[in-house]
Parts: sequence; C-alpha cells; structure tokens
Amino acid sequence: MYDVAIVGSGLAGLHCARLLAARGLRVALLDRKASLTDGIHTTGIFVRKTWEDFPLPDEQLGPAIRDVVLYSPARRALRLAAARGEFRIGRMAWLYLWLLEQCSRAGVEWMPSSNVVAVEPGRVIVERRGKRETIAARYIVGADGARSPVAGGLGLDRNTELLVGVEEVVAARGEAPALHCFFDPRLAPGYIAWVATDGQEAHVGVAGYRDRFEPTLALRAFRDSVAHLAGGRAVERRGGTIPVGGILRRIANRHGLLVGDAAGAVSPLTAGGLDPALRLSSFAADVVAAYLDSGDARVLGAYTGDRFRARFVARRWMRRVIRAASHPLVMELGCALLRTPPLRALAEHVFFSRGSFPDVAPWRTALGSQLSARSSQLSGPPAPESREPIADSRAAAQSTSRFAV
Ligand SMILES: Cc1cc2nc3c(=O)[nH]c(=O)nc-3n(C[C@H](O)[C@H](O)[C@H](O)COP(=O)(O)OP(=O)(O)OC[C@H]3O[C@@H](n4cnc5c(N)ncnc54)[C@H](O)[C@@H]3O)c2cc1C
Repeated sequence: MYDVAIVGSGLAGLHCARLLAARGLRVALLDRKASLTDGIHTTGIFVRKTWEDFPLPDEQLGPAIRDVVLYSPARRALRLAAARGEFRIGRMAWLYLWLLEQCSRAGVEWMPSSNVVAVEPGRVIVERRGKRETIAARYIVGADGARSPVAGGLGLDRNTELLVGVEEVVAARGEAPALHCFFDPRLAPGYIAWVATDGQEAHVGVAGYRDRFEPTLALRAFRDSVAHLAGGRAVERRGGTIPVGGILRRIANRHGLLVGDAAGAVSPLTAGGLDPALRLSSFAADVVAAYLDSGDARVLGAYTGDRFRARFVARRWMRRVIRAASHPLVMELGCALLRTPPLRALAEHVFFSRGSFPDVAPWRTALGSQLSARSSQLSGPPAPESREPIADSRAAAQSTSRFAV
C-alpha cells in the first residue's frame, strides 16, 4: 500500500511527488507515457518569478527574453520591452528528466506505461503491459492534465472551458530573442498565434477554441506567414489542451486532490500554467502530508479553489472579452486601443508583472503552524523552495538508468 499515488508526471505531478517523498511518504508516480520525453505539450515559457522561486536547473532554461511584440490581424506591430529578461524557454525534455531524477533520489517509485483506466477511493486501476493492475494508496493526487480522469473518478470538479494548442519547434537562425504574439481570430480564435524564440530555438504555434478552427491547417497557414521569423524544418511537434476557465472550486476531498491543469490552475488570460503547476503542487504537498499525518479532514478545507478564484476575476472577464472578439475587425480595433497609454500599461502589466498565480506562501505557513505534529517540516520558509545542489542536469538525467524514460 502506498501513502500517495500520483497520476500524471508532468510538471505538477513531478514536483508534488518529490516534495511528498522528501517527507518520508511512500509515493507512486504513474504516467501512461513510456518516457517523459514523449509527446510534450507545452512551449515551456517560464516567467521570471518561477525561476527565482523554484529550484530549476539553470542550464536547462534558454537565454532570457525581454521583448514582446504584439501583432494585430493586419500585422501592425506594437513592441513592449521589459527592463530585464522576463521569460526563458525551458528545454522541457531535460527539465522533466531532471525532476524525475530528483524524485528518484527522494524515493519516489516511477511507473511509466501505466494507463489509469479507473480511480476509486483508495485505489487506482491501471493497464500495464497488457494487464490490469490495482495500485492501493491511502490518498490519490490527480496531476493528469486538463481532461483529468482522476477528477471524474473522485467526484471532483472538471474543466469545461478548453483551448487546443499545436506548435512546431525549429532551430532559430540568430533572430533576436522575443515573444511574438499574433492576435488573429482566423488563425487562433480565442487566443493567439505565437513565435517564441530565444535565439537558439523557436516555437511556432497556434491555439484557440476547438469548435472554431482546425488547428493543423491554421498552424500551416501561420508558419507560411512567419517564415521570416522562424523558418526551417520542424524538429519536434507539440500539442495539447489548455483549461482556461480558471481554477476549479472543488479540488479536494477525503480520497484525493487535484493539481496543475487537472485543477484548472492556468491563467485564463495568458494560458500560462507552468508557474501555477509548481505553486499549487507545493501547497498540495503540504496539505496531503498534513492530512495523512493527522487524519484530520478539516486540513483539506484549506485546499479549495474558492481561495484562488477571487484572484482571477479580472482575468476571467478579460477572457470573456477575447472570446467575444471573433471578428478580425473587432480585434483590429482592440489592438489599436492597445496603443493608448492606459491599455498599453495594462498590456505591460499582463506580460511583465509578477502576479499571475496567488502566492501560496501565507497559506502554507498557516497550515504549518496549525499542525503542531508536523510544524517543524511545514512551517519552514515556504518560498523560495529549498534549493538542492544541482550538478549537471544532463548528467543527472542520464544517470536515471533504472527508469524506463
Ligand atoms: C501547446 C501548449 C503550449 C503551452 N505553453 C505554455 C508556456 O509556454 N508557458 C506556460 O506557463 N504554460 C504553457 N502551457 C500550459 C502548460 O503547459 C500546462 O499548464 C502545464 O504543462 C500543466 O502541467 P501538468 O503537470 O498539470 O499537466 P501535463 O503536463 O498535461 O501532465 C499530465 C500528465 O498526465 C498524464 N496522464 C493523463 N491521463 C492519464 C491516464 N489516464 N493515465 C496515466 N497518465 C495520464 C499525461 O500523460 C501527462 O504526462 C501550454 C499548453 C499547451 C497545450
């Protein structure tokens, strides 16, 4: 019997698994993928506050990006420049492997090629190597993405507002580092098309509401139109679903809880989910450890989406506006308004401010002091996360020979 079974080994599941195992809990980490480097579905743009607050390996984050260029449907450009580098593109395959190595060192049991087909209180049923197996666990964490089967199995809330995104990765050809964001409802209805380049690699993608466009065709048309920014052969294709309805309300009960995309922890406006995945997982690890230690279900009351949703009111409204701007002329007008000082300031705030996901540090501290039994572990400085010595993440990743990654 495991203490915790974590379904899904994206950023949220890996981070949560490591923190729980570091507390001495017996943790199983499952994923249907055979390797963490298969089917990556994120561009991997990290914001400054993430790499400042969490122990990510510096050598797996690309050069810092300061410039954001916004384009109207008629391709009129508006350049925003931050005072310093605010974004870095993660080398996601290496980052995942590095995190898995951290999990291994903490004692996490990694179970790749484990497709979870059912979840019930106290057990997870998986298909592995053509057979059905039951994995018993005192508590279950759903880190299984936007369409979370765990949420359904445990009777927790599920995401309903979803975008679909697809992108290609190409080698950059010395273009200046920048995030190029294209507002065009014909190519990306309800979101943006993008070229994100840090001078070493470039990501070219589109995302939007699934019922309003055909992602592959839109990507092809978009790539043709931005060949001057990121031409060349695709070395990798990525894609996935992005929940943009805001964090869900019911994300925990006595049997399990949700983290990352499964909990809807994504900015409804920017669709950024990497920082929220780490922040919410840190808090989740505290809550799970405290609950298993004390058996007191009141601890779980701290882990509710209502606590976070208030922070997202303005962003959810802005999402409604973007969703409604389905005609290119309306979007053109909106982009023209962005040139006025107040709206330009708002755009700079959205891209460059530190405040996308609520800071969970005060709640972590409150939880720590609430539980005297574990107070020595829980009430330490909650952020930034403790930094463990990092040698070379590539070497570390390569040393994961006992993992089928
Ligand atoms: C195209 C695209 C680009 C994006 N770009 C950015 C960006 O640049 N910056 C940013 O901040 N955010 C970005 N996002 C959002 C961000 O990637 C996600 O919010 C974040 O990766 C979520 O991490 P996660 O661990 O919650 O979920 P995931 O990374 O989706 O991990 C879920 C895991 O669960 C596994 N799983 C699912 N079902 C099962 C099952 N039944 N059994 C076993 N395992 C299962 C999956 O295989 C997967 O490994 C992007 C999203 C997309 C789609």
